[in-house]
Amino acid sequence: MLKTIGVLTSGGDAPGMNAAIRAVVRTGCESGMRVMGIRRGYRGLLDGDMFEMNLRSVSDIIHRGGTMLYSARCPEFADPEMVQKAVDVCHEFGLEGIVTIGGDGTFRGARDLTLRGIQCIGLPGTIDNDIASCDYTIGYDTALNTIMEMVDRIRDTTESHDRCSVVEVMGRNAGYLALNAGIAVGATCILIPEVDYDIDSYIIERMRRTQKTGKQHFIIIVAEGVRGIDSKSLARYIQEKTGVESRATVLGHVQRGGSPSVRDRVLASQMGHYAVELLKQDIGNRVVVNHKDQIVDYDIIEALNMKKTIDLELYRVANDISI
Ligand code: ADP
Repeated sequence: MLKTIGVLTSGGDAPGMNAAIRAVVRTGCESGMRVMGIRRGYRGLLDGDMFEMNLRSVSDIIHRGGTMLYSARCPEFADPEMVQKAVDVCHEFGLEGIVTIGGDGTFRGARDLTLRGIQCIGLPGTIDNDIASCDYTIGYDTALNTIMEMVDRIRDTTESHDRCSVVEVMGRNAGYLALNAGIAVGATCILIPEVDYDIDSYIIERMRRTQKTGKQHFIIIVAEGVRGIDSKSLARYIQEKTGVESRATVLGHVQRGGSPSVRDRVLASQMGHYAVELLKQDIGNRVVVNHKDQIVDYDIIEALNMKKTIDLELYRVANDISI
């Protein structure tokens, strides 16, 4: 069993990261390990910015969004010299393993550290759900619920004024948030990066057709990663073509914050516990993910090479019923 492990959060923060930290710290401490909290991801690791945690260090955080360990980008970590520097810091503090919570970038850092002898376990923390090996990432469910609540509010005013609301949601490379939230809010059209669009046939024609059946207000969900479409220009174009007063709303960082949902808290707790169970057996270089409702682990390099495709059948369902 490893004697001293660390835990860090890296990349974009996601609700539920705190629940994962809590599970790592509690499982580690109860197993007799020394657990160090590393602040601000790989940046804090390089700076030796860490402190010893105990059972009570993680009290009252399970319901909080963000991450009590803070997060940061540290692009220089892609440089092998910096990774070696981090390994030296690990030796200095006696760190033999680290649970790293973040996205694919974070997993790449974890892979590089493991190749140099520090046993790392990656946990998927990102609201975008864009980790190929994982069905549901930590933070995704909360973000979906936040988007749904926000768009429900926008719908009230959209409906009162017979308007069209174009709502831009996060998802630079992936349309999971847009597709699932879009279905949940009954969006007329959903634009995701995985699909190419002709605006006239997909949006304008669809709006005209539904107008004829009495529909007077519209919600259009656009993922931020859809190429060549910015929500403000799209709203202007829709207004020009249909005569329906149209407004754009960019939801922005509100999607990242907030108290984690039940699903994210439970998932993060399971994953954090599982990660330490692996480290107890001296197993590193794994990511802990959920697949078909089971918590499983994969080799980090294999996981990074996996591909995940969006459910186009679900997309078809969305379009069939949003008329
Ligand atoms: P995410 O983990 O959410 O994908 P980033 O892509 O910003 O977010 O990655 C988080 C951090 O992981 C980076 O700031 C950097 O420290 C580290 N990282 C990213 N890419 C690599 C890489 N190719 N090799 C080593 N470390 C990396």
